[in-house]
Amino acid sequence: MKPLYKRILLKLSGEALMGTQSYGLDSSTMDRICKEIKEAHTLGIEQALVVGGGNIFRGLQGEAQGIERTTSDHMGMLATVMNALALQSRLEHMGLETRVMSAIPMHSICEPYIRRRAVHHMEKGRIVICAAGSGSPYFTTDSAAALRASELNCQVLMKGTKVDGIYSADPLKDKDAVFYPELSYQQVLTENLRVMDTAAIALARESQIPIMVFSILNPHGIRDALQGKGRFTIIQ
Ligand code: UDP
Repeated sequence: MKPLYKRILLKLSGEALMGTQSYGLDSSTMDRICKEIKEAHTLGIEQALVVGGGNIFRGLQGEAQGIERTTSDHMGMLATVMNALALQSRLEHMGLETRVMSAIPMHSICEPYIRRRAVHHMEKGRIVICAAGSGSPYFTTDSAAALRASELNCQVLMKGTKVDGIYSADPLKDKDAVFYPELSYQQVLTENLRVMDTAAIALARESQIPIMVFSILNPHGIRDALQGKGRFTIIQ
């Protein structure tokens, strides 16, 4: 079946890489996700990834420990770089060509994020892994994902979560939770459905980029969602 999109932005939270652990990276989870990314690559999809850092460090956590907020957010962004390098290593081990591009330049480790270079890499079939979020404190990697999806002309922002879409309540806690196959950006904002922060939703709406929320735990979750199969929520 033909994929619905040619160029995608995949947002992976740090938690998605953590598996069942409470901190850091889980190697079997990483392998599984990398295989899914490879599967999408085999379909001829151009991919940019934005990776979070919550499995290692979050800005708010540091602030609670008395670290100044901006410094703490810098630490959070450094955590995303660690995840990006780990993903790069696993993907390259599977034979894929990748580039880590950091919003905070770190010349001896990876490329700086330069939009035109990122587009060039994708056109060459390389997977671009965007690290260090937006490079600015007080933002999240969800907002960075909406930003990169907009500037890289991605046709969809795919957000892999632990559940297979958006529900009226947490389906793991409330058996009466209603599943939403489709929502408008406005509904997500007014009903305060906590799938991404409001800045990310607002920017995706402004750029008219649909957001697909699907389960990263389902085998072939990325491929199926790309082919419009299986269960997911689309915000458009
Ligand atoms: N962060 C930031 N600016 C950005 C993106 C991230 O300051 O543009 C920091 C922020 O402190 C955040 C941390 O990096 O808590 C990790 O990112 P995030 O919480 O979005 O990761 P995720 O929840 O996706 O794992």
